[in-house]
Amino acid sequence: MKITDMKVAIIGNAPVVRITTDEGIDGIGSGQSSKPYLKPMFEFYRDMIIGKDPTDVERVMLGIRRMGAFKPWGTAVSAVEMALWDIAGKAAGLPVYKLLGGKIRDKVQVYNGVIRFERKGNEPEHYAENMQLMKDHPYNFSIIKQAVSFHGRMHGDSDDFYFGEPTFEGRHPDHPNRGPITPKGFRYMMACIEAMLDVLGDDVGLALDCGPGMTISDTLKMAKELEGSNIMWLEDTINGDFNPYVQADLYRQITPYTSTPIHTGEQIYLRQNFVELIERNAVNVLGPDPQDVGGLSEMKFVAEYADLHGIQFAPHGIFGGLIGLAAHVQLAATLPDNFIAFELPQARPEWWLDITEGGDVFEVIDSHIAVPDAPGLGLTFIPEEAKTYLREEDSDFFDN
Ligand SMILES: [Mg+2]
Repeated sequence: MKITDMKVAIIGNAPVVRITTDEGIDGIGSGQSSKPYLKPMFEFYRDMIIGKDPTDVERVMLGIRRMGAFKPWGTAVSAVEMALWDIAGKAAGLPVYKLLGGKIRDKVQVYNGVIRFERKGNEPEHYAENMQLMKDHPYNFSIIKQAVSFHGRMHGDSDDFYFGEPTFEGRHPDHPNRGPITPKGFRYMMACIEAMLDVLGDDVGLALDCGPGMTISDTLKMAKELEGSNIMWLEDTINGDFNPYVQADLYRQITPYTSTPIHTGEQIYLRQNFVELIERNAVNVLGPDPQDVGGLSEMKFVAEYADLHGIQFAPHGIFGGLIGLAAHVQLAATLPDNFIAFELPQARPEWWLDITEGGDVFEVIDSHIAVPDAPGLGLTFIPEEAKTYLREEDSDFFDN
């Protein structure tokens, strides 16, 4: 089998790739809906994969993997890898999880980082009220993630949250700020967290997305104050999101000194960039995103290596869309027992469910999704329906 073309379209704001072959089988992959600007980056790889056998996934990846980087620049490589697995699965008549080593669970756990309700204010009681709505959601989430500190724009909501001048500019404007939190800001943040913990009680675990931008001492102080409560992890306190570096040494000054789990990794591209975090036990939980790290087999390798070092795994996925969700499910079915849960992506806009076949099987029941057995990623486009949503310049996306 040979790859004949790679088509790219922006569908509902997400860059989507469709790889075609000389045997009439195609495969799909996508980046996050927050990254439509990556279309040229996707097209960059077309010439490097045409003519290759898509079922030799690793061989194709060796040709393009080195031409990528930390978030957002690993997304195109990751989406291509996803589409190759989709083709390989369809060609074999098997779900992707079989090709990744087989499943070790029939349903996979998800956590809530995506279903949100408008918060009526910024006081602790508003955080509590909002958390109650998430707790009451019919998906019955076992873990809910809330943004606080720099990730929760607490530095934008109040003038004296930290010692610094907040800026919100450019693409992904939430993340350039960092600095020490004021005593008042710290007390306010802890009050919000405690209000949310009261709501969740022993029923639901609370994960906190915190940065990047916190100092080592603020992170350690926060982690120590939260010891003994139902905190699943503190995510990206120091680095994360769009920081193109890791700095394991900084996390080494926190993680060994607290029992509150420390988490990072969503911005990291490729297994090599996890070695220091893993071998030095710099964090307790890793959360790469399959649409940033380099793909599904890359994630699998990182998870297995993390498991050998006693590090847990809670993958990122908020903007992954329906294709990302399908990929997450296939992968999570195969991950070792260090897998906790992945961040649920959603079909957004909802018409994604109308333009695809298979999307409705990813139903969340009691914070879990059953692993489907359809070949490939288990999700295919219905071209007649999907064409309605193509932009004019992408109108040949479903041709040949
Ligand atoms: Mg995060």
